[in-house]
Amino acid sequence: MYYTKEEDSTLQLVGVPFLKSSSSNSRCHTTPSRITQREISSSNRRMFGAVVVGIGTAGWVRIRDILAPHQGSSAEKLTVKGFISRRSLDSQQGVSQLSVEEALKRKDIDVAFVCTENSAHEENVRTFLQAGKHVCVEYPMALNYKTAVELWNLAQEKGLILHEEHIELYSEDYKQLKKEVKGKTLLEGTLHFTGGVLKPGFGFMAFSGIARLTWLVDLFGQLAVTAATLEEDISKNYSKMTAKMLTADQKPLTWIEERGPGLQRVKNINFQFESGSLTEIPPSPRGAVGLFMQDLIHFSSKLMGQVSQEDIQKEKMRILHCSELADKIQQLCDR
Ligand code: NAD
Repeated sequence: MYYTKEEDSTLQLVGVPFLKSSSSNSRCHTTPSRITQREISSSNRRMFGAVVVGIGTAGWVRIRDILAPHQGSSAEKLTVKGFISRRSLDSQQGVSQLSVEEALKRKDIDVAFVCTENSAHEENVRTFLQAGKHVCVEYPMALNYKTAVELWNLAQEKGLILHEEHIELYSEDYKQLKKEVKGKTLLEGTLHFTGGVLKPGFGFMAFSGIARLTWLVDLFGQLAVTAATLEEDISKNYSKMTAKMLTADQKPLTWIEERGPGLQRVKNINFQFESGSLTEIPPSPRGAVGLFMQDLIHFSSKLMGQVSQEDIQKEKMRILHCSELADKIQQLCDR
């Protein structure tokens, strides 16, 4: 078994065969998305050829999951044709390296998985969309809001699926937390994340940590940033971002991202509701289907035209809202 360094719960199943249970995230709707209508007639017959860009932790997992998709899921419609890396590498899990140029012109490559460090996402997403390929990009797709909007517009113009991975919404802990929060009236809350130092190229903390912001938006709806500060001790590689936000009901929410050498990867919550408080993320047993696999099923369901336009639109709005909030937080911290 192989455990990884970053997302603690994320890569829990690396190297472990997936159990054959059905996924709650494989959705089937009667209204196909407008974007994929032109493809839907052939989508049930043909496979979608994929290239994986960036062979770090996430890229490695993407290849693994495409090679061994969850049985009976839409992810079985993906087939990996190669990978791209800035390094010259031997074959990875039996898959060969391709040049960017070859991947862009090959007709049997329909989809790119962008798994590089965050600062290279924008260029890769743009390049593959311009070449007419669907794109699945690990979060965040861009390190500013304006670019995220441009990339969505480009995908729309081209009639392509642009999907931003959000595995943090698939963890059993999160699903349980969401159930606990549902129906409660928030008075105030804090989400405090700590973790080790990130490698260069992962961007400003509000973007590298957008998974935490996504939790808050998914739990409490649209937010507005009121203040943000950044404390840094460069000599110690330490940084702490504190963002103050308000819900639509004007209830205060604080989001803290703190990173430094030796800091454990932990999310602490303190949510005060009218009915009482919630100070621990409810621990839940791991799900049978890995988080990246759940995301792969969701993405391939979009390719197959099985996710409604309404759901695609809602997801896009949430992603752009989080990107806009992150941008605002960065601007306030930069002042
Ligand atoms: P990573 O550092 O493992 O890899 C990032 C990039 O660095 C890849 O392009 C890889 O090819 C390159 N790289 C890695 N080692 C290298 C080396 N020795 N020399 C040259 N290049 C090298 O990062 P990651 O965890 O795979 O993250 C990639 C993307 O996935 C990021 O956008 C991240 O936000 C996202 N993501 C990762 C996880 C996770 O659990 N790892 C979870 C969710 C999202």
